[in-house]
Amino acid sequence: MIRVGINGYGTIGKRVADAVAAQPDMEVVGVAKTQPNFEAHTAVERGFRMYAAIPERLALFTEAGIEVVGVVDELIAAADVMVDCTPSGIGAENRDRYATYGTPAVFQGGEDASVGDVSFNARGNYADAVGAEFVRVVSCNTTGLSRIIAPLEDAYGIERVRATLVRRGGDPGQNARGPINDILPDPIAIPSHHGPDVQTIFPDVAIDTMGMKVPATLMHVHALNVTLAESPTAAHVREVLGREGRVYLIPPGLGLDGAGTLKEFAYDADRPRGDLWENCVWAESVAVEGRDLYLFQAIHQEADVIPENVDAIRAIFDAADAATSMQRTDEALGVGIRGDPAGFLGAGGVTAGVPQQER
Ligand code: NAD
Repeated sequence: MIRVGINGYGTIGKRVADAVAAQPDMEVVGVAKTQPNFEAHTAVERGFRMYAAIPERLALFTEAGIEVVGVVDELIAAADVMVDCTPSGIGAENRDRYATYGTPAVFQGGEDASVGDVSFNARGNYADAVGAEFVRVVSCNTTGLSRIIAPLEDAYGIERVRATLVRRGGDPGQNARGPINDILPDPIAIPSHHGPDVQTIFPDVAIDTMGMKVPATLMHVHALNVTLAESPTAAHVREVLGREGRVYLIPPGLGLDGAGTLKEFAYDADRPRGDLWENCVWAESVAVEGRDLYLFQAIHQEADVIPENVDAIRAIFDAADAATSMQRTDEALGVGIRGDPAGFLGAGGVTAGVPQQER
């Protein structure tokens, strides 16, 4: 069993804790929090041992009726690996602390790429993180792009990726974020940081990204144009993407016409916290003109990086190869959505093979 400590129990940390606890080969040693808020109570109710991230605040937890078993240094010493889910920039401050105890760590995409020996996406570059001490799971948007780029690169080769990212202004709980009534080019200067971030996973991929922020909290939506090295049919691209366990090809006819309905779909399916771990690609949007591929996808920012964190842990310990780890993670969490009631994706749905000559 790999003993995992989690530092920071907010949007990402609480999801990582549940995902790790669900794995057959991992256990959660404990979680560290700065304050005894509602999430601290949730952690204790879920059976996670609580550590004070700031030792001077330990008494606040006790006063709030939360049993604390120690301070964060004790968690780091007890864990085989730490997953740092603290706000952007704090992870880099914590790095030396993990190194002091010889405890490897997984960081999040809000950190600069230099925080890790390697930036990570399981489908893109799992092997690069095998045996690494510090691994950074790339951001939600970069994860979403990487999961599309990897299979397209494998199947056809890529000449250039152009992506416009319509980004949610904040997470549902981030009531201090905006915009409230605006549409912001963000950043105004082009390219946005997402393209260079994708290149930490695929150094040779040419990619230009433009970002916008809108007053929404549910998901991001990406408009992609990928110039391929070949000219496949749209049906073949759907087939290639449909083989990816972490891509949901949304069939028409279900009324899943936006981020709002996708989130309703997730709640109706009793997904924990309404999480959509998969890239949600509208199958109808997949279009090919010559070598130019176009598609729209929605990315649930709070959820898509969670399976990647689990895989990053296995990579650090060389506990499984990429395919085995991803399969184990996905089975334990329930990642993967299938179903094509209208038959749009062909006989047998997305699992049907498309012969090479039909490309
Ligand atoms: P969050 O604010 O929801 O949670 C961070 C948690 O860390 C909070 O509970 C906070 O109290 C705690 N914390 C603050 N300082 C701490 C410290 N010194 N030690 C321990 N805990 C501390 O943030 P989040 O959205 O979970 O983001 C965490 C990281 O994940 C960031 O790097 C972010 O960029 C990245 N990320 C976020 C999203 C998203 O959509 N929320 C998606 C992908 C990646």
